[in-house]
Amino acid sequence: MQDVYSKAKLAFHSAALQSIRSGEQQPPIVVHWFPTNVCNQACVFCTFGSGPDRLRAKILNRRKERWKNQQLADPHAVMPKEKMLETVHCLKEIGVKAIQISGGGEPVAYPFFDEMVSAITAAGMEFGLVTNGTLINHVKAELIGSLGFVWARVSIDAGNQGDYKRVRNVSAGHWSRAWKSVSLLARERVRAGHHPEASVGVGYVVDRDNWGVMLKLCS
Ligand code: SF4
Repeated sequence: MQDVYSKAKLAFHSAALQSIRSGEQQPPIVVHWFPTNVCNQACVFCTFGSGPDRLRAKILNRRKERWKNQQLADPHAVMPKEKMLETVHCLKEIGVKAIQISGGGEPVAYPFFDEMVSAITAAGMEFGLVTNGTLINHVKAELIGSLGFVWARVSIDAGNQGDYKRVRNVSAGHWSRAWKSVSLLARERVRAGHHPEASVGVGYVVDRDNWGVMLKLCS
């Protein structure tokens, strides 16, 4: 199986390596972009402190002042639409090839998500998506698929529904919505017009609360 996390992928970018070697300025090949810090969940391990205030208030150690992201990031921040479009244009101008849309925050909760992914692909750049998946319905999945996403990773972070609810401070319905988004995106992966290398996966943060069930899940 192809190693999607292989460091050797850099070898495909020999011109960039040559620029770095000769001391020339090299634009980023990929940019990680968090268009919002707003989220519809409130994970105990969220370094950005994202999530609705009423959910976040339930978390005992919610004020992690020493967590760098919580010092620097406003959990309610939303990039204005005009600034987002301007940024897409600037990234294209400097030679960025692909954008990983991610968080701090849930990117699909970004109010201009549709415009963002459309603008990225219209500019000729590729995109990948890290999401909790719970806001991805048929319509959203079809949009993402029709634009030819390169990859998508749905954050699960729990081995069963009980852990999922507890870790994310959400109702049981979020568990099934997250897994539903995996199947919707997987269906889009093979749809006509998809990116030839498109892949869909799930992600797990392992912490002191969920590790026991995670061990069972992987064995
Ligand atoms: S889903 Fe991601 S952004 Fe939202 S609270 Fe959890 S870790 Fe933070």
